[in-house]
Amino acid sequence: MTFSRQRLRRLLSALAAASALTAAPAALAWSHLGHWLVGELAQPLLTPAAQQQVAVLLQGEPNPTLAGVASWADELRGGSDADLARKTAKWHYVDLDPERCDYQPPRDCPGGNCVIAAIDTQSKILADTAQPLEARRDALKFLVHFIGDVHQPLHAGARPMAEGGDDAGGNKYQVSLRTAVAPQGRNARRQVAGGPIPTNLHTVWDYYALESAILPPEKYAAQLRQGGMAPVAPQALGGPADWAVESCRGINAQSLYPRGEDGEWQHKLGGAYLDAQRPYAEARVRLAAERLATVLNAALK
Ligand SMILES: [Zn+2]
Repeated sequence: MTFSRQRLRRLLSALAAASALTAAPAALAWSHLGHWLVGELAQPLLTPAAQQQVAVLLQGEPNPTLAGVASWADELRGGSDADLARKTAKWHYVDLDPERCDYQPPRDCPGGNCVIAAIDTQSKILADTAQPLEARRDALKFLVHFIGDVHQPLHAGARPMAEGGDDAGGNKYQVSLRTAVAPQGRNARRQVAGGPIPTNLHTVWDYYALESAILPPEKYAAQLRQGGMAPVAPQALGGPADWAVESCRGINAQSLYPRGEDGEWQHKLGGAYLDAQRPYAEARVRLAAERLATVLNAALK
């Protein structure tokens, strides 16, 4: 089939527009579901005072709930505010040294542009009633999102360098994934029916690990609440640097980078990997929600 140049250009721009709508911003975040769950699980853990202030701050939002605004920081990139998206692009992650998983701000967070500093800064803005309402509203929306992101292990580290690290939190670790989960974004067009999905380990964690529960979001939230949830005690809260270090350590501890029986890195993954890893992904989401609630309860006294 041949296309006139003009027709080809039209087709390409239509494809670009479609992918801007559906593609997950690569490497930026838990998927929409992950962020939605963090907000949904945190909301009932808020004090009445915090609930009330959240309602005031989010007045006028299409969905004025924590879950409803949880993906806003990613959607900036889709065009709602390109300048803010550029300015905040590095606030979604931190690349800790994969061997040590320690945090050294000058090395790991130059200019305060990383998820750890962003959480600290936005917490202060939210708590400061002298700040304009718009700044505090954005701070709340950023916090819901970034406290989710910092709990995604691959937003804080990668494989040890000696073993091939420096792969941008798994973004450069190519994966061929066989799963019943419908692929997202660009992959949706690429996928051969029933065939493996070409993706990468970061996306497996942002998206497929939770999506592979194959539950409607409300049911999934109800299931994750079973066993009880509560805000983390303030003295046990720690801070975003601790949460990032914990995420980074989880990469090795939970064998996020899959090895075969021969010890070689595996790049062909399927339901067995997703099923084995999903409980850890869910534990991170629950912890993110419990910590988010404590942060908001303190900032919105
Ligand atoms: Zn993000």
